[in-house]
Amino acid sequence: MTQPTYDNDNIFAKILRGDIPNFTVYEDDKTLAFMDIMPMAHGHVLVIPKCQAVELSDMPAEYLQAVFVTAQKVMQAQRHVLNRDGIVQMQLNHAQAGQSVPHYHVHLIPTSIHALGQHAERKADTDGLAELAKQLKAAII
Ligand code: 5GP
Repeated sequence: MTQPTYDNDNIFAKILRGDIPNFTVYEDDKTLAFMDIMPMAHGHVLVIPKCQAVELSDMPAEYLQAVFVTAQKVMQAQRHVLNRDGIVQMQLNHAQAGQSVPHYHVHLIPTSIHALGQHAERKADTDGLAELAKQLKAAII
């Protein structure tokens, strides 16, 4: 296996550069959390590091820690806003595993493993995503 090379033109790199808009839930110096535009469930959020990493194998430890600290904040907000306990935490490594965006990201999906269906299939309503991002942002502590 060779180490994956980072493509600066991937969609999440563009989001980090501000070239493409997103519905931000939380941001700090090392991470960004935002709504998935093709959610697998209502309230699906992605957490990404602000470093060049394709998958788990090339994530610097300090960014891994930062991503999971942010994921904890987001999950707490999802539970509060969506009034449910079950959140699927998912992260795909390599296209062979179904990874479609080659920038490391953790999915936080308010659903059950038994209800997970098609991946990245259908765009959600933009106004709905904006409203949910606002509610989650306000619930971050
Ligand atoms: P992966 O298959 O790489 O684990 O997941 C990539 C995720 O990124 C998918 O859930 C997909 O819906 C989401 N996604 C793809 N393009 C965009 C985009 O332009 N904006 C946002 N917010 N999410 C995206």
